Amino acid sequence: MPTEFLARRYDTAQFARIRLDGDRVVSATALADDEATRVNAAAKSAGPLPWVSPGFVDVQVNGWGGQEFSSEEITPEQVAQITREHFPFGVTSYCPTLTTHSYACLAHGLAAIHQACETIPEVAAYVPGIHLEGPFFSTEDGPRGAHPKEHCQRPDWNAFCRLQDAAGGRIRILTMSVEFDESAEFVAKVTASGVCVSIGHTGADSAHIRAAVDAGARMSTHLGNGAHRMLRRHPNYIWDQLAEDRLTASLIVDGHHLPPEVVKSMVRAKTPERIVLVSDVSGLAGKPVGRYAMTSGLELEILPDGRLVIAGQDQLLAGASLPIQYGIANVMRFAGVDLPTAVAMASTTPARIIDAPCGGLRPGDLADLALFHWSPGDTTLEIAATISHGKVVYGKLSTAV
Ligand SMILES: [Zn+2]
Repeated sequence: MPTEFLARRYDTAQFARIRLDGDRVVSATALADDEATRVNAAAKSAGPLPWVSPGFVDVQVNGWGGQEFSSEEITPEQVAQITREHFPFGVTSYCPTLTTHSYACLAHGLAAIHQACETIPEVAAYVPGIHLEGPFFSTEDGPRGAHPKEHCQRPDWNAFCRLQDAAGGRIRILTMSVEFDESAEFVAKVTASGVCVSIGHTGADSAHIRAAVDAGARMSTHLGNGAHRMLRRHPNYIWDQLAEDRLTASLIVDGHHLPPEVVKSMVRAKTPERIVLVSDVSGLAGKPVGRYAMTSGLELEILPDGRLVIAGQDQLLAGASLPIQYGIANVMRFAGVDLPTAVAMASTTPARIIDAPCGGLRPGDLADLALFHWSPGDTTLEIAATISHGKVVYGKLSTAV
């Protein structure tokens, strides 16, 4: 049955009647002036209509509620559970992300996600591909961050192929350091296999970064994090990646990982078209304040201010705990961009990078949509409803005029 509801378009700010049929948008027509006046008057008593935009695409999600994807025990049903736990965030696609662990652990997690995509329709609708963050990082301390040293290794094509096999070919993003002499050749092979190479947790110099980009690297992973605490003023790998127009940068804009001034400077340097917002939520996100032992052997801690750190070292962030709608609101406050621009950073731009389906408001677009309340200055979007493939998976729609 066709679905119809009223909302305010995120791109034009007009009140509109949205019609869906099956998993597609039929129309998103602006209301006539007299109708819009009536809707405004009704809003005074019933509350304002929500904004409607493409659903959010989060290409870096490590888990939720105490369950990580990097796990030797995760089941396809737990993958589905994490997927459902993202419904209230306006997210309609995400990349389950596995960080550096033992081969057995990674292979198990990848296989569980693959199986979930094959057998559970809501996972298939939500997961366009997997993000593998590691294990091709330097064993040196510094940019490696919380990735366990004993499992970090130089680029190894056979090792990557075995992991891609375990994932049923679903690895779509590989975050790697590019500081080894063999990195560029490896980047070229991975890129040719259809996987987006993203530079991250790197200590690479300018020449290595240029070689990796020449070989096909297209993204920077959480630029400004996973870096040395002290860095030479210039040249360094942050300037190199900021200046490289062939790289789109992902940023964690949760208010903890990057100071507002850094977010603003990076958005201006890259231009908004080359910025992707990611939550990078940890498997611990959604859990209460306290210390937790992870499968990697690390002990992590959620602090009262919401930061997630290596236990006892409150300057060493080990992931994030706020879902992507916070980043969308924050990037408007920090970098002075408008709502359509901020939404694009968390929907159409990431979808384009990994060639994933994305919702939209044109006739025929996929009905993957987020509805939310937001006013300038807010620290997050308040999600009112999430529509996945034409189905309301969270909240409810406003139909009354
Ligand atoms: Zn990372």
